[in-house]
Amino acid sequence: LGQLKSLLSRVEAGDTIIVDAATEVAYVRPEHAVALAFDNRFAAQEAERAELAALRDLEATSRDGVKISLLLNAGLPLDLDSLAMTGAEGVGLFRTEFQFMLADSMPRLDTQIALYSDVMERAGGKPVTFRTLDLGGDKVAAFIPTEREENPAMGWRAVRMGLDRPGLSRYQLRALVRACEGRPLRVMFPLVSVIDEFRKAKALLEQELGWARFHGRQGPSSVAVGVMIESPSLAWMCADIAQEADFLSIGTNDLMQFFFAADRGSPKMADRFDLLSRPALSFLAHIIKSAGRTPVSVCGEHAGRPLEALALLGLGVTRLSMPAAGIGPVKRMILGLELSAVKAELDRLLCDPSVTLRSALLQFAQLQRIPL
Ligand code: PEP
Ligand code: MG
Repeated sequence: LGQLKSLLSRVEAGDTIIVDAATEVAYVRPEHAVALAFDNRFAAQEAERAELAALRDLEATSRDGVKISLLLNAGLPLDLDSLAMTGAEGVGLFRTEFQFMLADSMPRLDTQIALYSDVMERAGGKPVTFRTLDLGGDKVAAFIPTEREENPAMGWRAVRMGLDRPGLSRYQLRALVRACEGRPLRVMFPLVSVIDEFRKAKALLEQELGWARFHGRQGPSSVAVGVMIESPSLAWMCADIAQEADFLSIGTNDLMQFFFAADRGSPKMADRFDLLSRPALSFLAHIIKSAGRTPVSVCGEHAGRPLEALALLGLGVTRLSMPAAGIGPVKRMILGLELSAVKAELDRLLCDPSVTLRSALLQFAQLQRIPL
């Protein structure tokens, strides 16, 4: 909840305000009845929290026996505490740029190694997928000089910056390799637009792995190199990139902003275009089908919303990575779901241009008593 125009002119020091981010409303000096309604809602939320906490140690398996991997999105070592709290299987997306955004100068090699090693330690043997630096766009590192761009989200960011600054990338990859000390390494590159970028990024990693071997360092026990599908051009080439990557991770936040040509940070765009629509879902279906046997996960915010997650599972995704708050509700949805029925329904809906997908899926979930 933000950008409330004229709020400051309507409140005085000491006023009570109820901030309801769920419905995007702020109540200034609420009446007693309103406050009471919120007390009741808090009590209901507490009960729901307890219900979800009870699911923590259950596997996320659908009623017809399909196991789904639920993973966490993280960016700070503290976020790893949510692994135990939620029962997530591992970290599907670790955003490494946060360390850079919080620093005044370039984090030294040992500082980077310390972070990655701490993250793996805290994960306690659960897999962690590190994403290389996604700086630029809305993520600024004060010590990296950049030029003003008209469209920074589409500008010099992520792997583009990484390939233009191989020193920066190699330093980070060296830190990741060194932090492993006999543990598996899973790494993926953000905003790759053409396959050649992925090949070049992989070559930088190869150099670092070779360097570690040459110096007799204990490298990772295994290496899996993935790529984020965030640009429509790479999605279009999905069958080809899938041949060269160990795994794919669909970043729906960026992919949808570029697919719909709608700024993900603009409040006016927020509810304008829907992932649960024919263009978006048929596009995602194309990506998932083209990936063939290469594992595909989804790590955008959509993966943490039960109805959206239901559609993604219906398209064949079996790995979802999301903010901690999404794990419980998505697991509860999966436990109540017959996946084959969802797939059949989604196939049917995608062939019928007259339906509104979001409401049709919601209706289906209600009829099937799938808890959302
Ligand atoms: C995405 O774009 O969906 C994604 C997960 O990356 P980020 O939100 O960090 O851009
Ligand atoms: Mg992204």
